[in-house]
Amino acid sequence: EVVVENVHKSFGALEVLKGVSLSVGRGEVFALIGRSGSGKSTLLRCMNGLEKINSGRIEIAGHALGGDAKALRKLRTDVGIVFQSYNLFPHLTVGENIMLAPRIVKDVAKPKAREVAREVLQLVGLSEKFDSYPDQLSGGQQQRVAIARSLAMRPKVMLFDEVTSALDPELTEEVLMVMEQLARDGMTMILVTHEMGFARRVATQTIFMHKGKIWERGPSATLFADPQTPELRQFVKSDV
Ligand code: ATP
Ligand code: MG
Repeated sequence: EVVVENVHKSFGALEVLKGVSLSVGRGEVFALIGRSGSGKSTLLRCMNGLEKINSGRIEIAGHALGGDAKALRKLRTDVGIVFQSYNLFPHLTVGENIMLAPRIVKDVAKPKAREVAREVLQLVGLSEKFDSYPDQLSGGQQQRVAIARSLAMRPKVMLFDEVTSALDPELTEEVLMVMEQLARDGMTMILVTHEMGFARRVATQTIFMHKGKIWERGPSATLFADPQTPELRQFVKSDV
């Protein structure tokens, strides 16, 4: 479902991704871990075309990156991305927030969009919040709405960038549970996370990035239990 091949990405003179390759099969869950500045967010952003790569190849959900604006829009309907900041529209209700993209981007009729919104809200456990406004919700609930909003586009792949980093521990848990359910339902997911326990439990594979390279990778259980490089050993020790 996702193929990344020898991707290089620089910002000016700063080379942030130095030949990254990975491939994620349908229904697999990959965790991306690594120190601040190692290039995790940049890699995710390249995957849905928010950043242009300098060289290499990315194919995701059946789309090749590097096409025109129209191709990119199509790609983005199949690839959802959720960030640490949820950016819901404050003047729209939860339901309206979720219906917006399907209505505008996919031209879905209103009754159908509403039906889909109710369905994805139920998936994240917030059925009763359809008519609430974002500021009436907790941070964890808002983040779940942001995930629901992404799911309403019926993506084939979901990318998550530290979606729980801004949340209190008890709110973090409810968001992680939603992601775990998604994983169980067979969604292809790549997630950047500082939640090592979660990565270990939910991700089939974990990738440790260091200085713009994939330093170490493997089945999550093995990777955490038996790090092969001093860098990962140090990271696991300091982070857990
Ligand atoms: P964190 O854990 O702090 O989120 P990260 O692994 O996600 O870190 P990136 O955000 O990918 O790291 O950043 C990697 C490097 O690229 C950093 O040195 C950062 O300063 C730089 N960088 C990221 N985005 C830009 C940009 N738009 N312009 C210039 N430099 C950037
Ligand atoms: Mg980041």
